[in-house]
Amino acid sequence: MMEQYLALKREAGGSLLFYRMGDFFELFFEDAKIASEILDIALTSRGEHAGEPIAMCGVPVHSAEGYLARLIKAGQRVAIAEQVETPDEAKARAKREGKPSSKVLVARDIVRFVTAGTLTEEALLEPRRANVLVALAEVRGAIGIASCDISTGAMALEECTSQMLSAELARLHATEVIVPEGWEHVPDENVPHDRGAFSSDAGSERLCAVHGVATLDGFGEFSRAMLAAAGGLIGYLDHVGRGKLPLLLPPRLRANASSMAMDEATRGSLEILESQNGNRAGSLVAALDRCSTGAGSRLLAEDLSAPLLDLQLIEERLALVQFWRDRPIERANLRDVLRALPDIGRALGRIVAGRGSPRDLGQIRDGLGEAARIHDWLTREADRPPLLDALLPRLAGHGALIDLLACALVASPPTERGNGGYIAPGYDASLDELRDISGNARRAIAAMEARYRDETGIAALKIRHNGVLGYFIEVPSRHGDALMAADSGFTHRQTMKGAVRFNSLALHEEASRIAEAGGHALAAEDSHFEELVGEVHAAREKIAATAAALARLDVAAGNAERAAQGDWARPEIVDTAELEIVGGRHPVVEAALAKTGERFVANSCTLAPDDRLWLIGGPNMGGKSTFLRQNALIVVMAQAGCFVPANAARIGLVDRLFSRVGASDNLARGRSTFMVEMVETAAILAQATERSFVILDEVGRGTSTYDGLALAWAVVEAVHSRIACRCLFATHYHELARLADSCDSLSLHHVRAREWKGDLVLLHELAEGPADRSYGLAVAKLAGIPAPVVQRARQVLTKLEQARSETGGLAAGLGELPLFAAAAAPEPEQGPEDVLAERLRTTDLDALSPRDALDLLYELKRTLD
Ligand code: ADP
Repeated sequence: MMEQYLALKREAGGSLLFYRMGDFFELFFEDAKIASEILDIALTSRGEHAGEPIAMCGVPVHSAEGYLARLIKAGQRVAIAEQVETPDEAKARAKREGKPSSKVLVARDIVRFVTAGTLTEEALLEPRRANVLVALAEVRGAIGIASCDISTGAMALEECTSQMLSAELARLHATEVIVPEGWEHVPDENVPHDRGAFSSDAGSERLCAVHGVATLDGFGEFSRAMLAAAGGLIGYLDHVGRGKLPLLLPPRLRANASSMAMDEATRGSLEILESQNGNRAGSLVAALDRCSTGAGSRLLAEDLSAPLLDLQLIEERLALVQFWRDRPIERANLRDVLRALPDIGRALGRIVAGRGSPRDLGQIRDGLGEAARIHDWLTREADRPPLLDALLPRLAGHGALIDLLACALVASPPTERGNGGYIAPGYDASLDELRDISGNARRAIAAMEARYRDETGIAALKIRHNGVLGYFIEVPSRHGDALMAADSGFTHRQTMKGAVRFNSLALHEEASRIAEAGGHALAAEDSHFEELVGEVHAAREKIAATAAALARLDVAAGNAERAAQGDWARPEIVDTAELEIVGGRHPVVEAALAKTGERFVANSCTLAPDDRLWLIGGPNMGGKSTFLRQNALIVVMAQAGCFVPANAARIGLVDRLFSRVGASDNLARGRSTFMVEMVETAAILAQATERSFVILDEVGRGTSTYDGLALAWAVVEAVHSRIACRCLFATHYHELARLADSCDSLSLHHVRAREWKGDLVLLHELAEGPADRSYGLAVAKLAGIPAPVVQRARQVLTKLEQARSETGGLAAGLGELPLFAAAAAPEPEQGPEDVLAERLRTTDLDALSPRDALDLLYELKRTLD
């Protein structure tokens, strides 16, 4: 057995091998150790191999799906080795080969690889997340990217430069990335695959074969790099499916730069699909998503990952959102209908991959039927926007298939195919006849039971059925003897504790009738199933188009719902380099605050070519990061075709969006945090264009004060004068304010705060002009630093500030310009008299008891001292 196991394991390569033994999948050696750790199941050992005990563990076949899901989630891939012959067949084979039958082993083979990117099972997929598999190939410097979601069959081909690769991969958010073995540009997590598959010839041949066409011209003009990537992708799918390919729709050609570029750091810091802790909760998509279907949620995530650059396409999406926004009753109606809709895209995926069930066919029938009703309804609506008109034809046209499935299937077909019962009565006369036969025979058996009771006078006689004996007659032991008599007409089969079981000729005949008819009926249902699957298969592209159209409707209605809930505005998209957001809010922070009953303070942002860089100061916790991010998020949402959390927004198309957060907010990733910060900033300086939008949050913070200030200074200058893009730059370096003198299109802003009686009040409100001071000590106090430490810090600060005014400070010598500290008049310190006056003014004397009045007097005296 070990020999067979080891051969299969070699074939499985880097995947864990699930080796079928009876009702279990067993794992051995290293595989067993890895799996037992991840699954938290017992690790045992058995026998010996090469002098060592063999580690093993196992999972029951009937509950394997749950275990598989956990292994995949933990980043493993699994090869499933099944028995591919019965023990009888194995014995017969042994006989043919002249071997003793006791020695022969049932043949096993890997029937499938289960990998994160190639799942179709409902239980293993997340309903609201697309499951994307990507393959990469390089041809003469160009990198081809083939991506697909085999749970719905959607496939796209595109090309990029090696410099843009990580941004493109970040957009695709793949669960698995396939690369040619030994390729140098490998991303961090990848699966190498046979180089031979990654050639443009192999790619176009494979694509032609999959879609049964002689040329790919009808699908688009694909570059050699794209085709090579497609070759790798299909080669890999072929490998993991062991020759059975999943659903693949004709590849969509994704034009270069058809969406806003955002690299991984930007997506991470904006928390578009996942929050920093890796969950959907707390992300932009979670705050936005009011879709009624999983397919809608997946499409919304795709929209937000790839905001558009085409004004007209954005307007089309926005107009559809507006359509639903203006029709609250119809919107509620549509959302109700959609909510009840099955996920036909994924049902189709399973059917085409050969893993479909009668229930999946039922879902296709119900989903398409509902789509047709939506079509008829919307066709009657007036003032339809162009996108709706474009979607309508895709919702209908399945009449014949729906009718067929409606006649053929019962109302709610089972997920199990093996027991039959899913083909509706009336669909096939011969099947009905077979069912009648077994039905009649069952009734005959029931009648027989009554007759035998009468004839034998044994009221407790029963006719029963089990898997081993089939039908039998059972009487309690004390009546057993009466039926044992040779002429009783009964033959003894089994004596149990308390009961005796018999057979009779008549019962045997009826039972055979049932068995035979049942077998024929099952076979008939099976062949109908295959026919129906064939019909669905033939219509797969049209069904997928319907699923996509429903998802688009859902996204628009969901966005309209969200806009109505939050009173969001339709953004105006223009083709100039401006950004005017009135009363903008951060959707995630606002929702979080709402939970605790706090109000979010809306802030406006107006960038234009002559005032395109805002330098934002103010205390920590003052709301700088929130402001920066909310504006970036509003841009993303607007270009994705969503309404935005603002009173109004006018947004000049942004080609690339960059968001960077100073090092100390970031987790180290092997490199030092400051190094990460600088690498990321370098990328902005290399890639941003005049049409980009950049937010920089405390860049330069990860190093010493001098270095940090110097870098921040130089970065701002470069962004302002060389790149000339729109930019928001948050910083705590006061000295940077002096840049306003040399940079024409830069202006100073700050988040407002007040210190009152030593306590800090954060207003979260943006105002013009430089920040007056940093309030660092006040924030420290707010955070609970003990009072003596804060006092000591105050002493140190006073010393430092003295030194600064004597030497000219940190930024002395940066030019002839007056020092910022001198230019901005510091807010007058509150004297004790002011505090006294304030205290008296706010005290209601009539409410004081004589005792309180005395206490107040003492307090005032103390303040003066
Ligand atoms: P900073 O970047 O200045 O340190 P943050 O943007 O991280 O400050 O904001 C700190 C906290 O202040 C946030 O977590 C949020 O709770 C609150 N906050 C920020 N902006 C606002 C706002 N506009 N309205 C209300 N609360 C806000």
